[in-house]
Amino acid sequence: MNSIKKFFNTFLLIELWKGMMVTGRYFFKPKITVHYPEEKTPQSPRFRGLHALRRYPNGEERCIACKLCEAVCPAMAITIDSEQRDDGTRRTTRYDIDLSKCIFCGFCEESCPVDSIVETRVLEYHGEKRGDLIYTKEMLLAIGDRYEDQIAKDREVDAPYR
Ligand code: SF4
Ligand code: SF4
Repeated sequence: MNSIKKFFNTFLLIELWKGMMVTGRYFFKPKITVHYPEEKTPQSPRFRGLHALRRYPNGEERCIACKLCEAVCPAMAITIDSEQRDDGTRRTTRYDIDLSKCIFCGFCEESCPVDSIVETRVLEYHGEKRGDLIYTKEMLLAIGDRYEDQIAKDREVDAPYR
């Protein structure tokens, strides 16, 4: 009995018609795809994109070289060297993130006691040769300077949930 049923199912292309019915059902529904890059999907204020190092409003860098971010990074993507300044404060002399290792988990951001290392909404960046995705302290500070307004706004919106 089963083999007869199977024969008729195959002969009448039942599976194909079932598939066509699913296609037909979705054909007239509103489309959920967007035409990237002309159209973009909304982003959360918690979006974890390209990293940045922030400064205080007086221009002083926030990072105090505590190395918590380096210790917590599961991908070992962060490398920090530091030294003590003449005024007794500690600052980084080197702060590299290898974005080819980074898994964008956000742990560095969560661990930072002074809101220095953050992840921005920037997702459109690339590297063309080996080493292009190693972002240095200067590059990260420049990203922070460029996107500070957006970073500050996102953190304000997100503050009640932290
Ligand atoms: S987002 Fe995660 S993997 Fe990337 S640098 Fe930060 S802690 Fe490391
Ligand atoms: S970015 Fe934050 S967590 Fe990382 S070393 Fe600087 S102060 Fe510490």
